[in-house]
Amino acid sequence: MDIQKNLKEVLAQLPPNVRLVAVSKFHPNEAVEAAYAAGQRVFGESREQELSLKQAALPKDIEWHFIGHLQTNKVKYIAPYIAMIDAVDSYKLLAEIDRQAGKCGRVIPCLLEIHIAEEDTKYGFTFDSCRQMLEEGSWRELKNVTVSGVMGMATNTDSEDEIRREFGRLRDFFNELKERFFSDCDTFREISMGMSHDYPLAVEEGSTMVRVGSKIFGERVY
Ligand SMILES: *Cc1c(COP(=O)(O)O)cnc(C)c1O
Repeated sequence: MDIQKNLKEVLAQLPPNVRLVAVSKFHPNEAVEAAYAAGQRVFGESREQELSLKQAALPKDIEWHFIGHLQTNKVKYIAPYIAMIDAVDSYKLLAEIDRQAGKCGRVIPCLLEIHIAEEDTKYGFTFDSCRQMLEEGSWRELKNVTVSGVMGMATNTDSEDEIRREFGRLRDFFNELKERFFSDCDTFREISMGMSHDYPLAVEEGSTMVRVGSKIFGERVY
């Protein structure tokens, strides 16, 4: 695995306005260090314990994103340092992030995870449940989180049309939310979509942030 070569190939395909979250979950510290040495500073992890161990051991200017399902009882461990929480899927979680961020004197940027795939998964807001949560309005009182955009995962399929449709829906939904709830916030600006097998499509459909793991670090051994 030539991590630095893979990283450069991915970066070369991204327009300047699209940021890369290098997803290092299940890969050792050495893999992160190799990408770091090539200039990468933004990394994504999906398990709290693994992330906390890496955060303690690795350079402090790394911006860590939490990209997986986060249990509310784990928020306190990552609140002191996490750069962004990419997959907020309930108001309850957002409120707990706010509470823990407040204790650390921080404001934590968060993305709302939207369920866009055909597949059933347990996580993510539906379009309607997300609208309802925002309409209800309590989130406006949370001063220690910033709602910075949306995140979604397309169906794992070979159909480019299907993937494109799903990413297109997420982009349209972002635009709807921007207009209805965030027209005066320039911090609501991220559309996080695109993984190893579909990030070029995601970029064409308006992604501002791709989360790429195996294409850079190789297949994960679980
Ligand atoms: C693991 C993971 C990724 C990266 O997946 P690859 O297919 O390895 O690029 C991206 N986003 C989320 C939410 C993930 O859990």
